[in-house]
Amino acid sequence: FPFKQTIMMILKTMGLSKDYGKLVALNNLSIQVEKGSIYGLLGPNGSGKTTTLSILLDVIPANSGAYEWFGKPPSHKSRKKIGALLETPNFYHYLSAERNLKIAAEIKEVPYNDIERVLKIVELYDRRKSPFKTFSLGMRQRLSIASALLGNPEVLLLDEPTNGLDPQGISDTRTLIKRVAQKGLTIIMASHLLDEVEKVCTDVAILKAGNLLVEGKVENILGEEHRIEVQSENL
Ligand code: ATP
Repeated sequence: FPFKQTIMMILKTMGLSKDYGKLVALNNLSIQVEKGSIYGLLGPNGSGKTTTLSILLDVIPANSGAYEWFGKPPSHKSRKKIGALLETPNFYHYLSAERNLKIAAEIKEVPYNDIERVLKIVELYDRRKSPFKTFSLGMRQRLSIASALLGNPEVLLLDEPTNGLDPQGISDTRTLIKRVAQKGLTIIMASHLLDEVEKVCTDVAILKAGNLLVEGKVENILGEEHRIEVQSENL
């Protein structure tokens, strides 16, 4: 074939490490995320997932190592192509979903005409005029994802996207993540739930106490033949 198939790397980390005094939160993490994947960072509480996402978003600095977004060192331009949900955004309870997204759009300097698009993706367009306080937990989470999707990012970073939701909310959020990925977005999500990563993700990196145990395709790593147990003390 005359065409060489190249897989586009969305993210590459090279030996990222982070310590807090004596505590090594992240030890020499090297991972690669391909375009179009739903990449799960799987590990128990305290394994370094949030630390990793925070470094990748420039919220905290790494002690050593480096990373590249879209094949280049991080920049303001690359940051614009990344939507993130690290903690639940503060929505105004008495304002409508639409009004809340207008505020978010202003902060992100995204035009208002993107709001209809993101509300439709998360299936809240019909409820756009309802006050936020009338929303179920699942709807609130979907609105948070809508907010992260403002500006049409190429990558979505999610930290424990189903934490604290009821079964319906969990199911809706997982379906939404897969739907968003089908539109061509790359998703990087942290989760302590093996079952969640198995159901939602295409690729996985398993972290334990800041160390990468294994990285690869979910079907190869979490398949029937190679069972890996991930334990956590207080879930
Ligand atoms: P969780 O799901 O509980 O957030 P996690 O896998 O995301 O777990 P991190 O939050 O990345 O884990 O934490 C990794 C380690 O770093 C933990 O031992 C944590 O206590 C420690 N840590 C995180 N932030 C700080 C901080 N600001 N100061 C000191 N230690 C910290």
